Amino acid sequence: RAVEQLLLQYSWMLFRQSPQKPGVSRVEPCVCQGAPRRAGGGFSLHISGGSPSSVPLKLHRPDLSAAASLQVVSFAPFTLLPSAVPSALFEQAYAVQQDFNMLVDAISQNKEFLEHALASTIKVDDFTARLFRIHTQVLEEGLAQSVFLGINRSDYMFDSGVDGTPALKQIEINTIAASFGGLTSRTVAVHGQVLKVLGKPQEASRLLPNNPSRGLALGIAKAWELYSSPSAVVMFLVEEVQRNIFDQRCVENELWNRNIPVIRRRFRDVFEKGSLDEARRLYMDGKEVAVVYYREGYVPSNYSEQNWEARLLLERSRAVKCPDIATQLAGTKKVQQELSRPGTLERLLPGRAEAVTRIRATFAGLYSLDMGAEGDTVAAMAITNPDRFVLKPQREGGGNNLYGEELRQVLEKIRDSPQRTSYILMDKIKPRPALNYLLRAHSPLQVSECVSELGIFGVYVRQGSELVLNEAAGHLLRTKAVEHADGGVAAGVAVLDTPFLV
Ligand code: ADP
Ligand code: MG
Ligand code: MG
Repeated sequence: RAVEQLLLQYSWMLFRQSPQKPGVSRVEPCVCQGAPRRAGGGFSLHISGGSPSSVPLKLHRPDLSAAASLQVVSFAPFTLLPSAVPSALFEQAYAVQQDFNMLVDAISQNKEFLEHALASTIKVDDFTARLFRIHTQVLEEGLAQSVFLGINRSDYMFDSGVDGTPALKQIEINTIAASFGGLTSRTVAVHGQVLKVLGKPQEASRLLPNNPSRGLALGIAKAWELYSSPSAVVMFLVEEVQRNIFDQRCVENELWNRNIPVIRRRFRDVFEKGSLDEARRLYMDGKEVAVVYYREGYVPSNYSEQNWEARLLLERSRAVKCPDIATQLAGTKKVQQELSRPGTLERLLPGRAEAVTRIRATFAGLYSLDMGAEGDTVAAMAITNPDRFVLKPQREGGGNNLYGEELRQVLEKIRDSPQRTSYILMDKIKPRPALNYLLRAHSPLQVSECVSELGIFGVYVRQGSELVLNEAAGHLLRTKAVEHADGGVAAGVAVLDTPFLV
């Protein structure tokens, strides 16, 4: 019952939006008629204004089982308790973020590197090839865009290592649609309150404040300002089916608070109504667009032929794309693997030896499966020892990697085929598990052995060749049960958490 009470409070906190903004216009506590008393009332959300999600919506918490099938709102999943994170590793992750921002930005401007790194992949992976084609096409035409905005999230796990000392190891860097910067801005309050309810006020006061949505919005605001057209808007490019709208609203509201107008559109809207003028300024419904913030467009299923056309239109435009297509490509798993080759970081970041050292210290073992003797050896090594590795395709969003027996079977099948080059191989990180409760709608509550993944949000803005903003904007801790090898929050595996530094 206590947990139910907590859930009620937190679901409200996670959804709370400023009443003046489009989006959630009212959040009211309510008592549900006919609902079991034990469930203790509920809340209703009235959503109005804006598109394309503007359906009037009423949700009573006791109706959650019905809500699941009706596709209405359910609360974001979270851990009951914050999870322990070694403070030295937490600091290390923050300390390397500006280096990673610089690195991603450098890769995005290095046509030769991208071409070379992705050469084998684009021969066999249609999705990466298609992105790469747009990249080539916009470069051939000449970039109309002169202000660049990067929002990324570098993710890490804490490898338990041979001697038991945990080490920070990068899992990947997400350079497009890196999410949960909004919802995680609320989890500190959630976990602070849980600790207080449990009689641990001192521990509650040790939780670090964290508001990535503010940092993300600052980056978008800076890019908007440098675009220098006061009547222009920021466009969030959103999914066809809205699954994580409240996360996005947190960033959106920060922009409205700075008097920067935001519109939300889908690829389909861009295809139907987007246009460029002779200076390649982008217009949507008669409004000039200064910044396009993608929360969509990172997996093949996001693209119909029309959506590809819309993507090309956006990329050709003068608007600041977050990210531009080159930066999206810089975040592929294949690029990550190529970065681990000796000498590559030095070439990409000349004269920045300390940054190179900091970045390299976070790399786990990464191996190319390109055709040739090197790839043959790697494939044989993985087939012999599948439990030591993760096999990764060029995909995002969780749930795509292969492990253990499945890894072995797939690799055995494609070991002599160029198809293997659509994957990279990575050392499997083995963090020490800890107990926690994972709370999600419609799931029974049980204690689980869990592992966590720490993400640091990076934001940077470049004007021409000058980096005018380069910051770490906050963090995200996601925790999952050990029995799931893969998968993030959106994939339904991990839940939102808060680091408790130890
Ligand atoms: P995606 O872009 O789909 O999020 P990731 O590389 O982040 O791809 O992998 C998805 C999930 O798989 C991660 O969140 C993590 O839980 C797990 N994972 C990925 N790489 C490793 C690894 N090297 N060791 C252990 N787990 C991993
Ligand atoms: Mg990813
Ligand atoms: Mg990931």
